[in-house]
Amino acid sequence: MGKPIKLGEEEACLLGTSSLNFPCPPSTPPIVPAAVYACESTDQAESLLGGQQPGYVYQRDGHPNADWLAEKCRRLHGADAAIMTASGMAALSSVLLAHVQSGDHMVISNQLYGRSTMVFGSEAKRLGIHVSEVDITDLSAVEAALSSQPRLLLTETISNPLTRIANLPALANLAQKQSTLLVVDNTFATPLGCRPLELGADLVVESVSKLMNGHGDLMLGLIAGKQSAWNRIPQTVAAWGFASSPFDCWLAERGLATLGLRVPRACENAQTVAEFLMNHPAVDEVIYPGLAQHPDHLLAQEWMLAEREHPDHVRFGHILSFHLHGDAKTVDRLIQATQTLEFCPSLGEVRTTLSHPASTSHRSMLETEREKLGIRSGTVRLSLGIESADWLVEQLRIALDSLDLKADQR
Ligand SMILES: *Cc1c(COP(=O)(O)O)cnc(C)c1O
Repeated sequence: MGKPIKLGEEEACLLGTSSLNFPCPPSTPPIVPAAVYACESTDQAESLLGGQQPGYVYQRDGHPNADWLAEKCRRLHGADAAIMTASGMAALSSVLLAHVQSGDHMVISNQLYGRSTMVFGSEAKRLGIHVSEVDITDLSAVEAALSSQPRLLLTETISNPLTRIANLPALANLAQKQSTLLVVDNTFATPLGCRPLELGADLVVESVSKLMNGHGDLMLGLIAGKQSAWNRIPQTVAAWGFASSPFDCWLAERGLATLGLRVPRACENAQTVAEFLMNHPAVDEVIYPGLAQHPDHLLAQEWMLAEREHPDHVRFGHILSFHLHGDAKTVDRLIQATQTLEFCPSLGEVRTTLSHPASTSHRSMLETEREKLGIRSGTVRLSLGIESADWLVEQLRIALDSLDLKADQR
């Protein structure tokens, strides 16, 4: 049984914004696209720029749309502080640049989002940072990797595309013993699926471009964290130019307003579709944390959030993967056969999308490395949307039934 989501957690997405000084407050937030703000006096300018007084001077240093959105995200995560960035990668880069420097060591999960592996792997090495990769599902390997007291341990709550679940309380415990910061990329879970700060993480990063916004029409990132890990974050975001755009923040507030409806719906759809796929002859294996045979099913039951009224309805996530009998050619035929489900190498939209890790997110890996992780050429990832479950199952049934499996063996 999961931790039930608390009263008010979903409603926090809906809160109005403490608006600017309007005689009658507008019922939706305005967009404030100003690049620069006027100052009343030299004293005020000095104290605004020095950060002694709240307010705005220059959009790259902060703007109302980012602050309104960040405040909602801060509450959703139960964080001490939160800040918006231009993208999920800008959020991750800010954390790297704020906390790690040349000569430092850090440990990263060996199953990170492709661009994260690039930034925290080869790019960090170029900056003189020592990086080791670890299988975060192997706690003794993590303990050994942390013995050198690295600055930072980076993991994802739910890995892509094999949906391995990080044991965050155990990782937090190991990290704390070595004074290592635990940084968690919570993009797949969102704060309505998991709240890593409550489980011991120091910083949470999310790509708001995905399920948080949910409509696939903007790029944004979020950093939320504990005060003890916050010190250099805002200045890094501002100075390195990782700041968010007012229009994207404004749009994301609208997306966030329906998060409390979209997350449960997408998770239920994923469960229904996973159970359907398990019984289809064209499918070899289904990988979804909501299935009893998933290696992290019990862990997910313990740490993922659940419906407030139904604590046994755990939010196992909106992402599932399955291995087709066949290879990339079979996946291509599936793509041709699914007229209604688009092949997009992204996720977290209101409509269900399909991706093929071997030719997209994991294309730069050697096939043998991919297979060692458990990603085959016939592996398909689905990001479930909010369509009706019956319709989704029907679309997939039509497409899968049309695959002539014998064609691959000829
Ligand atoms: C998409 C994604 C990112 C990067 O976010 P962008 O907003 O695309 O820069 C990072 N981590 C995960 C898990 C993602 O899915």
